Amino acid sequence: MKAVVLEDKGVITYKEVPTPEPAAGHVRLKIKAVSICGSDIKRYISGHRMYPLILGHESAGIIDRVGEGVSKDYIGKHAAVIPLMPCFECEQCQRGYYSACHSYSFIGSREAGCFAEYVDLPERNIFIVPENLSFEHVAMIEPSTVARHMLALGDFKSGQTAIVFGAGSIGLMIVQWLRILGAKLIVVIDISDDNLKIASKLGAHVTLNPSQVDVEKELKKLVGDGADLTLEATGVPQVLEQTLSITRPRGRIVLAGNQPLDKSLPLTFIENMMRREISIIGCFMSYSAPFPGHEWTETIEALLNGSLDIDTIISHRYPLSKAPEVFEKIGAHQLTHQKILLNPEETK
Ligand SMILES: [Zn+2]
Ligand SMILES: [Zn+2]
Repeated sequence: MKAVVLEDKGVITYKEVPTPEPAAGHVRLKIKAVSICGSDIKRYISGHRMYPLILGHESAGIIDRVGEGVSKDYIGKHAAVIPLMPCFECEQCQRGYYSACHSYSFIGSREAGCFAEYVDLPERNIFIVPENLSFEHVAMIEPSTVARHMLALGDFKSGQTAIVFGAGSIGLMIVQWLRILGAKLIVVIDISDDNLKIASKLGAHVTLNPSQVDVEKELKKLVGDGADLTLEATGVPQVLEQTLSITRPRGRIVLAGNQPLDKSLPLTFIENMMRREISIIGCFMSYSAPFPGHEWTETIEALLNGSLDIDTIISHRYPLSKAPEVFEKIGAHQLTHQKILLNPEETK
């Protein structure tokens, strides 16, 4: 089969690789759509733990073969990929904290991923979906679940106010879930007017561009002592510092942006956090018990009833064979994009 392989830091190729055969307890998914995640881009630009590796984990397809011990009834079913492979046995898995598993694996990061014609998956890593959903929408289930998980961690309640830093693909999903779950006020902050325009279309009540306005001053007018919930999806240290003063006392901040590891925060940050009794909550992936979690089932419902708008956040579609060029352009900052979808079938 053809696949897109990360060969080294900054080196990605489209080439022929062996077609996987499903192992015992596994199924094989014929990929119909796969979306590029920010983490795929990071693995390409900053390097990764192992090479060669087929990237890609936001994916949808049709089950075309099953391994020993797996029901043949799966064949022909449409499914999304659940990329996390927890052990299901360790202390954290027993608690249902699957992303904290002592020995997890992950499709497209520690196992061969979905930038390919086929992917081999354990039976537990397929999420069967209704056939009337488009493959593009199904491929975007995983990024939606991350946003939904952030709101669950932040204990978001209908009628609350929320501030979202970052209107990239996760930020735009957060805006939609805030809208779906009944936020009273959604404020989105981003340095890209294009992203902000999309955020407005998807439900943001107010958008602010820090290169044009004094964000803290504007937020003071909007939420006074601060919002109930602040969601950080930029990974910028200065933004992280800003989150405290715009969150109300006893409010919550949920972090999903990966911060640069060589930066540090002043201890006044802790002082401010203590004085305002603010909870800062980390988010890693999108899972809860029973596996893969309510984040996944709720996303399906939202896709079926049309409340989750996927088409608006897709900016580009390419055949899979074009992936190396696409990654090169992104790496050289020559492609402004929201979600990019790759299609293995148009490749031939
Ligand atoms: Zn992802
Ligand atoms: Zn485990």
